[in-house]
Amino acid sequence: MNQFAMTIDGKDVQGEMPSSMVLNPANEQQAFLAPMASVAQLNKAVESAKTAYPNWSSLTQTKRDEYINKIADVIELNASVLASIIVEEQGKPTQLAQMEVGGAVAWTRHTASIEIPVEVYEDSENKRIEGRRKSIGVVGSITPWNWPLMIAIWHIIPALRMGNTVVLKPSELTPVNTLKLGQLLQDVLPAGVLNVISGGGDIGRAMSEHQQINKLVFTGSTPTGQNIMQAAATNLKRLTLELGGNDAGIVLPNADLDAITEGLFATAFINMGQTCAALKRLYVHESQHDELCQKLADIATKQVVGDGFGDGVTFGPVQNSAQLEKVIAMVDEANQQGAVIYSGGARLDKAGYFYPPTIIGNARSGMRVVEEEQFGPVLPVIKYKSVEQAITEANSVEVGLGGSLWGDVEQASELASQLECGSVWINGHAEVLPHAPFGGCKMSGFGVEFGLEGLLENSLLQVVNINK
Ligand code: NAD
Repeated sequence: MNQFAMTIDGKDVQGEMPSSMVLNPANEQQAFLAPMASVAQLNKAVESAKTAYPNWSSLTQTKRDEYINKIADVIELNASVLASIIVEEQGKPTQLAQMEVGGAVAWTRHTASIEIPVEVYEDSENKRIEGRRKSIGVVGSITPWNWPLMIAIWHIIPALRMGNTVVLKPSELTPVNTLKLGQLLQDVLPAGVLNVISGGGDIGRAMSEHQQINKLVFTGSTPTGQNIMQAAATNLKRLTLELGGNDAGIVLPNADLDAITEGLFATAFINMGQTCAALKRLYVHESQHDELCQKLADIATKQVVGDGFGDGVTFGPVQNSAQLEKVIAMVDEANQQGAVIYSGGARLDKAGYFYPPTIIGNARSGMRVVEEEQFGPVLPVIKYKSVEQAITEANSVEVGLGGSLWGDVEQASELASQLECGSVWINGHAEVLPHAPFGGCKMSGFGVEFGLEGLLENSLLQVVNINK
């Protein structure tokens, strides 16, 4: 069964540590056995990336772009196998897994097409000062379990494009799609340019401390991001930290609920709510609260909850039992504290981590489901009396990834700057695109991904002073 291997120095490598069971969240049975790396194997992967670096970084941009477009071709050719692995280990419905693979291809191609300008700070008779971009060296990437293939691509493609070589470690909960990606790319990239190893937090920690890793890109929870930042001090690694969020959406007074309810539901429950920038708290004027909760619940109860491979299934399981337990506890607590459950509210009575989309009305500050990131299929709806109060409450959490305003575009546009977050969407939420930078503020991390700014984070600025 253990047909998936790590990729070190362009070759299949089995783990030196005992393999780990990867469960299918739709039936709680073993789906795969994944190899587990030892620290010695991490060191080999880093060594191999370091050896490959001089050649890779000295290729022309055109040549590297050719390689990157070949990566997109290979993902496209293997789209169905990759999507099927994602459904089996991550749980999302097939159509969403196919979207994830399609997104990975689109992101790869777009990233290869971004022009990298040379900045000219001065160009006078006697002097020219230019800002040029250099690669950094070996980039480490550590990914989470919610969008495993897409996030791996978000990390590795900009790093490779800028001339760095990579060591990638996926989440131990969903490693197989990424291991498969590494294996598929063995024939595409020169040996050592992309190494994929699997392991848990111990290997993540060893990567954060590693003296030969020059930059680390991390997507995951805020506490892990804090650990990484401390460990990265050993060699002052460059960091991009995309951490947790607890995004608020504010429905402005008198908004047309028929026009926005589908969008609110879709962006709150995308990937069963297991999306960093999903809508996680919804503020609505008290006069529209009951009507909006009911409209959202009407959409929720129409969802077909089941195994991602099932015909017509629109809503898969939660990815793992710890996440499911967290959601159950938060909803039960809110219920005891006087919230109203408009839909869902209990685990399905069958094998698999199934929890239907849950709309909680009469939620309020102080409830854990409002204060903390649920990262699951639940949306608390909170009443407000004034827009100022809604904005204050939206900003009251420690994290600041995204936020949204729904209703009149002009009013929303004026209010946008009052939200403390990295992205604001108006009449939308959770929309990330390869050409628009995305990143958080406060405890949601720092640095951005995507677009030119995201690409440049994978480079060092060198200022060249030319005295003519
Ligand atoms: P997690 O922090 O538990 O794990 C993420 C990765 O970190 C895994 O690969 C894990 O093995 C590794 N890890 C664990 N301990 C480590 C350590 N001490 N040092 C280094 N690496 C370590 O997060 P998760 O549960 O996989 O993902 C869910 C979280 O990710 C949520 O909070 C979500 O909001 C966040 N997330 C953020 C974004 C974003 O772009 N901001 C995107 C997706 C997910």
